[in-house]
Amino acid sequence: MAAKIIDGKLFAEGLRTRIAGHVARLKSEHGITPGLAVVIVGHDPGSQVYVAQKAKQTVEMGMHSEKYELPETVSEADVLALVEKLNADPAIHGILVQLPVPKHIDSLKIIQTISPDKDVDCFTPTSVGKLVIGLPGPVSCTPLGCLMLLRDQLGSLAGLDAVIIGRSNLVGKPMAQLLLADNCTVTMAHSRTKNLAEVVRRADIVVAAVGRPKMIQGDWIKPGATVIDVGINRIDAPERGEGKTRLVGDVDYAAAAEVAGAITPVPGGVGPMTIACLLANTITTASLINGLVPPSDLTA
Ligand code: NDP
Repeated sequence: MAAKIIDGKLFAEGLRTRIAGHVARLKSEHGITPGLAVVIVGHDPGSQVYVAQKAKQTVEMGMHSEKYELPETVSEADVLALVEKLNADPAIHGILVQLPVPKHIDSLKIIQTISPDKDVDCFTPTSVGKLVIGLPGPVSCTPLGCLMLLRDQLGSLAGLDAVIIGRSNLVGKPMAQLLLADNCTVTMAHSRTKNLAEVVRRADIVVAAVGRPKMIQGDWIKPGATVIDVGINRIDAPERGEGKTRLVGDVDYAAAAEVAGAITPVPGGVGPMTIACLLANTITTASLINGLVPPSDLTA
């Protein structure tokens, strides 16, 4: 195996140490305790584990944490009312509504009700607009985590050819904006892209965010390229015993690691960065809401 393995777990630990330092400083120098509210609707087990992790890490950082667990049957009006209440609450600097929400609730309406000042997921049109034109504010968590890993690995990204596979609002599109802002030449690929293998073969940086297990083949990767695998796919793993499963990314890891210069594993690559970046965004919004310049070492 030739590629360096990019250890997202270790990087996220370092990021959390920096976050805890900024929380302590905001408290001691400005009397501000950054606060994050997480809202979950229904009982999706995956979402519940994720939300519990977020709440735990928020407290570990010394931040104020609020968790609202609403029943599956809650009305849209009640969710909107809760978001409005959190918008007005001075103890809360970040609001996250865990998606997906049940079908009878319009997720876009919920997102658009979150105050852009507290939009730590960078979902509102205002936050997305700020990201595109480069104004200070929260940055989409998973793409921010990918960017930090890339900068750590490669230093300056200027002039590099980056191919992003996947164009979701959650990952692909904000990732493209961040890489463009770092002076990459960015290509966005998606389900209608022709000759995907050839497109990927041109890339110095490959970001895979598709949601299809091991779709990106080893021989699509340019020798020495840096591969960031965002995908999280659960597949059957009969080798571990009957009914067992395991997580894999969107990249055929073993084959890609033979050619890439560096690669993120799944699990242990991008995943651990996402929650750490959410906490970093809460420091950013807490700073901006209080007229302070956000720390620069939480985005670089
Ligand atoms: P979406 O389903 O929203 O988007 C998938 C994208 O992949 C779409 O743009 C789609 O293209 C494209 N696509 C699908 N099939 C192909 C194909 N055969 N060839 C090329 N492109 C294709 O997914 P998300 O962006 O939300 O998530 C992507 C993956 O990342 C998932 O595995 C998800 O679990 C994971 N994820 C991981 C996170 C983490 O913290 N590590 C956070 C968020 C997501 P089109 O637009 O044309 O349909």
